Amino acid sequence: MTGHIPHLYVEDILHSGSALELTQDSLHRLRSVMRLREGSEVRVFNGRQGLWRSYVKLEGRHHVYLGVDCALKEQPHVMNDLTLYVPLIKPQRLGNLVRQAVELGVNRLVPFRSAYGGGSYTWNGSRMEGVVVGALEQSGRLLLPEVCKPLSFEDVLRGHDSRYPLFACLEHGVGEGRMMWKVLGDFLQGRKASIIVGPEGGFSAEEHEWFQEREGIHPVSLGRYILRSETASSLAVGMWISSREGF
Ligand code: SAM
Repeated sequence: MTGHIPHLYVEDILHSGSALELTQDSLHRLRSVMRLREGSEVRVFNGRQGLWRSYVKLEGRHHVYLGVDCALKEQPHVMNDLTLYVPLIKPQRLGNLVRQAVELGVNRLVPFRSAYGGGSYTWNGSRMEGVVVGALEQSGRLLLPEVCKPLSFEDVLRGHDSRYPLFACLEHGVGEGRMMWKVLGDFLQGRKASIIVGPEGGFSAEEHEWFQEREGIHPVSLGRYILRSETASSLAVGMWISSREGF
């Protein structure tokens, strides 16, 4: 959000003078952050055309729409192409993990099933889209991350392009992980990378072998303590993004 002016994601094409009908869902999201009054400003974006100013229009008691005024910011280019492999963990925690990753600037989310995670949890695509939209509106990001269908752990590693680093977060005492902040110093020119974090039960011995055997995989440690999957993924993503953008 910019100051107190809410950001709202819409699917419509944006141009000056258009009137945006609000879906029940976007109306609900707007009402949760502001009192809808005639003339209140709302900033709208659709993930393709940058950020636009609009104003609330009320017609009668029940009809609310947004009148689009002018463009405020161009659509940004992808600066840091970061993929996060998301372990399937308990739904509420999964939602937190995804929300934080999107706020921090992940460009692609790829859920994966592994030996100790994902067995009984499902990936609810439409719920996750809601989480992603909420995170964009909260953070002011304008780039819509790609949200992929779940893969198996093996397919994640088989599909990895070894020209780019994949940072495998392995807790202290497991694998040969160097501290992530030190490893990042070796990749200061690169803009494309991936991060993988394990589920609550961590990675199996066999999965650790995959990490060791394949090219382009860098085991990293995030410190001496064992972090929850969502804490570990936020820390790793935050380190990568801040090492590129210096925010
Ligand atoms: N295997 C552990 C256990 O059950 O005791 C816990 C796994 S931890 C809760 C979940 C995931 O977070 C790990 O698989 C790893 O990817 C990541 N993680 C947690 N602490 C970490 C650390 N200090 N350094 C790197 N990764 C960490």
